[in-house]
Amino acid sequence: MPNYLMALDQGTTSSRCILFDESGRIVASAAHEFPQYFPREGWVEHDPMEIWSSQIGVASEALLKTGATWRSVRAIGITNQRETTIVWDRKTGVPVYSAIVWQCRRTAPRCDELRAAGLAETIRKKTGLLPDPYFSATKLEWIFRNVPGTLERAKRGELCFGTVDSWLLWKLTGGRVHATDVTNASRTMLFNIHTLSWDDELLDLFGIPRAILPTVLPSSGLFGYAAPDVLGAGIPITGVAGDQQAALFGEGCHTPGSLKNTYGTGGFLLMNTGDKPIEQNMGLVSTVAWQIGEKVNYALEGSVFVCGSAVQWLRDQLGLIKTAAETEKLARKVEDTGGVYLVPAFTGMGAPYWDPTARGVLIGITRATNRNHVVRATLEAMAYQTAEMIALMESVTGEKIPELKVDGGASANRFLLEFQADVSGIPVVRPSCIESTAFGAAALAGIGVGLYRSENDVAALISEDTRIEPKKDAAWREEKKHAWKRAVKRALAWADAED
Ligand code: ADP
Repeated sequence: MPNYLMALDQGTTSSRCILFDESGRIVASAAHEFPQYFPREGWVEHDPMEIWSSQIGVASEALLKTGATWRSVRAIGITNQRETTIVWDRKTGVPVYSAIVWQCRRTAPRCDELRAAGLAETIRKKTGLLPDPYFSATKLEWIFRNVPGTLERAKRGELCFGTVDSWLLWKLTGGRVHATDVTNASRTMLFNIHTLSWDDELLDLFGIPRAILPTVLPSSGLFGYAAPDVLGAGIPITGVAGDQQAALFGEGCHTPGSLKNTYGTGGFLLMNTGDKPIEQNMGLVSTVAWQIGEKVNYALEGSVFVCGSAVQWLRDQLGLIKTAAETEKLARKVEDTGGVYLVPAFTGMGAPYWDPTARGVLIGITRATNRNHVVRATLEAMAYQTAEMIALMESVTGEKIPELKVDGGASANRFLLEFQADVSGIPVVRPSCIESTAFGAAALAGIGVGLYRSENDVAALISEDTRIEPKKDAAWREEKKHAWKRAVKRALAWADAED
């Protein structure tokens, strides 16, 4: 009988399921997009029931494709869009409100208030995070303040709070397990990443009753068993991690100093920092990478707001391209951008600039500029932004980063990876399985169920598909990065009326 590991990858726009065999090869997969709701400017919601139904649907679909039965699934691993906040009734399982998605900005004024009250430092010290609507705490507080009766019900222990992992665990186990893992807990802004427990002072600050919180468990180990009437067999759920942490694990970044970037809609750079979180206030966040048994790994994380979405902008807004994939061919038609730079500061600039009033610029245009130059400048911008984040991590940790591992949709673009290697001056490595997020969840589940003994067994399953060495010298790099910085300067403060 086969021995599959099932990864449930619950993303922001789609629910996916991938079945892996013991050697880490993909056996089958299925994906469903589900609706996004934008009830007001800047608000983003999901329907928790649509998250669940799409997820359970793809799980069955992937298994059906193999012709095997549920008994062939040795264990389940869950990975998920992080920070998204769901509250449901402990008895009926009915959500009290929509899922408030990580992208939702509704609590921005509350976060300004927290900063103005001088609480940023306390929050950073305890949680490794910055006060931002992104994280769950202010979303949960918003529900208490805006959905009548929820606070009283929560105090009476009648409600459950969870990020998407907790919601799926609860549904999969037929309401028997209300838990989360340390990586997801570390994104709530309620969890102390040093003591690895919910923080009383933060719970007080946001008015969160303890009774609503899930139990926090290591990322690998037994969370519970799927209810047989839900999945058809009592399969153990033995791995849970937030999507970026799962990708870090799945890329084999198991030792301190190893680093991965996911080139998706946005860019997510995570660096393993070993058994201690890094103290910094340069706009990066410190977070739990995973916990296996007693052993905890931390990570430093930086994000690029606009990464692959700049390519979508070329396609959907400008109509310059028909598919994302053709950017590679067009970019290679020219030797360079002819001095053109695109700074895609569409929603402001994040680290290291932190300027919400920055806006996009396309600069250096001459009569000779053509479509290929603009396309190339768009791909190069993805690399420049990532390079700046890598440099920031190096300055924070004082360590030279040896290589960059990559995944995500745009990592299929070899031109991008070559330019990244050149501009960062380090090799760029793409694994043969670019589904690192799902693989990471499956691998954590594999360790949790005893199929693999440790990270080393998992690392042995990961193979390199592409390794790109940098070809340019330091002088070229400096010149390029200098020009990029000059372009960024022109983008800063553009939407600031006072400027
Ligand atoms: P997410 O999980 O964030 O939705 P994916 O990892 O699926 O994103 O990556 C999709 C993003 O990558 C899109 O923004 C798309 O424009 C970009 N992309 C996909 N393929 C390519 C490519 N070959 N070259 C450049 N960008 C690409």
